Amino acid sequence: MFDKFNDECGVFGVYNHPEAANITYLGLYSLQHRGQESAGIVSSNEGKLRSHKGMGLVADIFHKKDLARLPGKSAIGHVRYSTAGESHIKNAQPFVVEYSLGEIAIAHNGNIVNAQILRDELEAYGSIFQSSMDTEVIVHLMATSNDSKLIRRLTSALMRVKGAYSLVLLSNKKLIAVRDPNGFRPLVLGRIKDAGRDGKDSWVVASETCAFEIIDAEYVRDVEPGEVIIIDEYGLKSIKPFAEAKYTPCVFEFIYFARPDSRIFNANVYTVRKRLGAELYRDHPVEADVVLPVPDSGTPAAMGYAEASGIPFEMGMVRNHYVGRTFIEPQAEIRHFGVKIKLNPIRDIVAGKRVVVVDDSIVRGTTSQKIIKMLRNAGASEIHMRISSPPTISPCYYGIDTPNKEELIAANHDLADINDYITSDTLGYLSIEGVYRAVAESGASFCDACFTGNYVLARPKPPQLALFG
Ligand code: 5GP
Ligand code: SF4
Ligand code: MG
Repeated sequence: MFDKFNDECGVFGVYNHPEAANITYLGLYSLQHRGQESAGIVSSNEGKLRSHKGMGLVADIFHKKDLARLPGKSAIGHVRYSTAGESHIKNAQPFVVEYSLGEIAIAHNGNIVNAQILRDELEAYGSIFQSSMDTEVIVHLMATSNDSKLIRRLTSALMRVKGAYSLVLLSNKKLIAVRDPNGFRPLVLGRIKDAGRDGKDSWVVASETCAFEIIDAEYVRDVEPGEVIIIDEYGLKSIKPFAEAKYTPCVFEFIYFARPDSRIFNANVYTVRKRLGAELYRDHPVEADVVLPVPDSGTPAAMGYAEASGIPFEMGMVRNHYVGRTFIEPQAEIRHFGVKIKLNPIRDIVAGKRVVVVDDSIVRGTTSQKIIKMLRNAGASEIHMRISSPPTISPCYYGIDTPNKEELIAANHDLADINDYITSDTLGYLSIEGVYRAVAESGASFCDACFTGNYVLARPKPPQLALFG
């Protein structure tokens, strides 16, 4: 069984760079926001793949000596995050497998919607899965083929897979990048001129362009939906082997997930977030003294709201950036302890003020509730909660870790109920029309299923086994 479906991840790959593992380390470092649970790097050298993976943050997993044990001029890497299900090293990527064709490593961002059906089928024919990750289905499908060409094995495996996948793969000769036909998750191609020390360029692939800046790579273009890019000693080759589908990238990447300095789906994330904030003001204006973001995710939208409204913007809450995974809880009861570890209001900014608080989304409602209590304790006279996305009413099937429908507050409660629960004076969510005005520059049609329930690809139910008859 897959115990876990929605994993948030970041992927990276580099070809023809004398410091491939180091470059991958830097790439993963700047993709850390896409996953903090585990990370891994696989490098390719003289026909052999070597791997290092661990639990935790990139900076804690890789030390100089670990990177030195990853020689070779090409490498791929992965960061992963999950809130539920099994958190275990066996689920850390990249996966490395050995076929008759040689070794291959794979790193995946996204979610395969028919993974359980494929897994049941593969297990019935004797495949033994090592992890509870949907990605492993791709590897096993490739193993069932006896085609002598790696690319054909890969593309015929992927033709059976439905869902979201931005993939990087590494063999001892090739770096391969693939984006699913709907292009749910971002994937970008870049180049470092003459970096190969052989008169040739280095090629890089990453989830987001922020990974290119840190290594001085130039952004070339997005990997297109349904495209397979093969990079080897002959250069770069592109094929489009899959049936065409509607381009529906994830609108939530703009709202919350991607880093503000990245350019994804043809637009800069920060600029879009500011526009989401301006649209939010258009939808839900209010008279107030100050606009506060919930840092960091709500900051650009709060700036957009402040700019559009003319209400002053203040960093009225300070975020502690050094919060680790564990801390020692006090025995004494401290009010709102959980949220205070991360956020603390500035009393002088909020006392006696009518405040607008801007966040990107409400999932369960606990964060907003705690923040509002904290701001009231700090003396705020009115609190107007503003959310730069529509109510989250449905889980994501395509690689964002939203909880089940039962836990999504907006799936089961109306606006008035949510306002009561989080104890705001007023609550306003951005309309879906407002979202589309803010992202218009991108030109894409977008998946918005978590806000509308309109799924581009359904998640098929595995057939129930009949016990009798
Ligand atoms: P809540 O407390 O309502 O469950 O969570 C809301 C907060 O979670 C917001 O501040 C938002 O920035 C953040 N958030 C929204 N979506 C996600 C997600 O997919 N992953 C993580 N880690 N945080 C999220
Ligand atoms: Fe993105 Fe929401 Fe679609 Fe998931 S359901 S891909 S989070 S827009
Ligand atoms: Mg947040």
